[in-house]
Amino acid sequence: MPETVVMKFGGTSVADAERLKRAARRIVAKRENGTRVVAVLSARGKETDQLIAAANEVSPNPDPREMDMLLSTGERVSCALCAMAINDLGHRAISLTGSQAGIVTDTSHTKARILEVRADRIRDALAEDSIVLVAGFQGVSTARDVTTLGRGGSDTTAVALAAAIGAEICEIYTDVDGVFSADPRIVPDARKLPVVSFEEMLEMSSSGAGVLQLRSVEYARNHGVKIHCRSSFHDRPGTVVVAEQETMEHPLITAVTHSTGEARVTLKGVPDTPGIAGRVTTALADANVNIDMIIQNEPVSEGHRADMSFTVPRDDIPTAQQAIAPIAQELGVEVATDPSMGKVSIVGAGMKTHPGVAAKVFTTLGENQINIEMISTSPIRISCVVPGDRVPDAVRALHSAFGLSGEDSIRPEEPFGPFS
Ligand code: ASP
Ligand code: MG
Repeated sequence: MPETVVMKFGGTSVADAERLKRAARRIVAKRENGTRVVAVLSARGKETDQLIAAANEVSPNPDPREMDMLLSTGERVSCALCAMAINDLGHRAISLTGSQAGIVTDTSHTKARILEVRADRIRDALAEDSIVLVAGFQGVSTARDVTTLGRGGSDTTAVALAAAIGAEICEIYTDVDGVFSADPRIVPDARKLPVVSFEEMLEMSSSGAGVLQLRSVEYARNHGVKIHCRSSFHDRPGTVVVAEQETMEHPLITAVTHSTGEARVTLKGVPDTPGIAGRVTTALADANVNIDMIIQNEPVSEGHRADMSFTVPRDDIPTAQQAIAPIAQELGVEVATDPSMGKVSIVGAGMKTHPGVAAKVFTTLGENQINIEMISTSPIRISCVVPGDRVPDAVRALHSAFGLSGEDSIRPEEPFGPFS
């Protein structure tokens, strides 16, 4: 059987007619190599943002089911247009909605999870020699409604399809060259990473690296799908994400990631009795607010009150405040928020077996007069919450302290390949 590849194109890679045609040529070139192709497309450019804005213009609180009906259209437009372009190149292409492609999800609108992929229709179309285009970011729920998979969800569509049809690789075509040792907009000599393990990529996606949606990495790890994240503008290789045993390099630290959209919420003077942390976090979970770091300091002496702080995405402050207000009122606790927090993290499988990494992180930040507000760690990540305006300095300082720049760093652009 010929090999099958899933090619996913992000919003900037299909933003206008020229780019859509370029994606079409790239898909066709792959097909002409003898490979069977399933392509997953995102909505063009800022389409999803515009649809969200349109919804907010007619309703302050749009119904989630209708929101999904609306948002799913962006990806359909891209697929239909791309199918037309491919047909004009003399190949047969068929576009499918997520539902037609057999992507079955749970019922949580605007952030649905894929439960199952019934890929028969895709398999049949491939067997008939068609190129299959699937609208990313969407599925059909077990209640037969259209659902979407959360921002960036087309990555997850691509990985799920790759798993379902047993594709050799899932290629994610994007507007950057791959995954970098830090955001090149902040660190100009950041290095493009040739290979990253699933575990490292999970930590990177969850601590701010925007290249791949976190869920897509989770899905890829769980189903052993190899991802190649690469540029849609040229032909050079990007970053391959694979299981740890397949990665050849074993650097101590792989990357510095950051995010600037953090806020800190502090409950001041919480009674030191069992069960309160559980109630607060349950209220937040019920309101669908994801908390990241949590700190609770012990009261100075028996019977005193403690402070409890946690971080949430900045946009979630109002929801978080609303969720904990009843508890705060009942306990007579003051709630303070600080909306201008950022987070810098270092990620690397090597730190598991190497002492002194945390010391180096804290010393480096200290030497740069950057105050650490909160700290959290995993076996392969150290994250520090710092004042939002110090994030770029913190990223640069850590990138340099761990010697992450290298010969492989972005060079003056080589001539573009045949797809530019
Ligand atoms: N169009 C959706 C978004 O902007 C999904 C995607 O691009 O992956 O989040
Ligand atoms: Mg994306």
